[in-house]
Amino acid sequence: MKKNILALLTVISILTIFVGCSSNTSKTQGNENSNSKSGTLTMYTNAEFAPFEYFKGEKVVGVDADIAERIAAAAGKELKIQHTDFDSLVPSLVAGKADFVAAAMTITPERMEEVDFSIPYVESIQHIISLNESNYTTMDDLKGKKIGVQLGTTGDLMVSDAINLDDGALKGSGSEVKPYSSPLEAAQDLLTGRIDAVVVDKLTAEEISKNNSDKLTSVKFGEISESYGIAVAKGNKELLEIINSTLQKLLDEGKIEELIEKHSN
Ligand code: GLN
Repeated sequence: MKKNILALLTVISILTIFVGCSSNTSKTQGNENSNSKSGTLTMYTNAEFAPFEYFKGEKVVGVDADIAERIAAAAGKELKIQHTDFDSLVPSLVAGKADFVAAAMTITPERMEEVDFSIPYVESIQHIISLNESNYTTMDDLKGKKIGVQLGTTGDLMVSDAINLDDGALKGSGSEVKPYSSPLEAAQDLLTGRIDAVVVDKLTAEEISKNNSDKLTSVKFGEISESYGIAVAKGNKELLEIINSTLQKLLDEGKIEELIEKHSN
């Protein structure tokens, strides 16, 4: 009799564990599914822009990725990072695919018409990368030259305007702008002589030229300082507040500088 009771209890407890497990599993999955929107923060970026975002194996790392981890922690959510072309970032935000874009993105009036930006967190300026023997430093040096840029960036805009606008400094000089999906590809073409120069943001230009210091130089080229901001969909005040307070804290503690240092060569 005792044995029977024991067997019965064993069966019951196994059943309890089993039922408990299966209901737990489905609950977790259910939660995960219903939470996948609210429990996850999806960041879009273009991971071809060291030190701000670059691939380490399969993983996107960099200054923006580290900042994003802190934003997600402050929001109590899990971070998902999606890599795409730079010129698809704002459209992805507008289409609701991304919660925010952290991509060393310059705050511009044009972009502000489509998305909302955080407080500025990094100041930058355009640089020009050229072969050591060319050592281009001024707009005049670029007359008649093939200039590589990353499509849809402020560098692209600056060079395209100089070539195309009526009063553009390169207008009629025979200069050509060559858009690339990544500044690294542009730098490859510079090394093989397909183009003469690359115009890109300061720290990325320095990173690329440092990695090829026997062949490439990078110098300040732009006149106007640019401020990076993290972008959210228009009107997403709740997330923007979390992003701004996270950024302000990092700025106050001098952490952004530290992160730049950490991810620079
Ligand atoms: N800061 C530049 C821009 O916003 C380039 C950014 C990038 O290529 N990731 O256009």
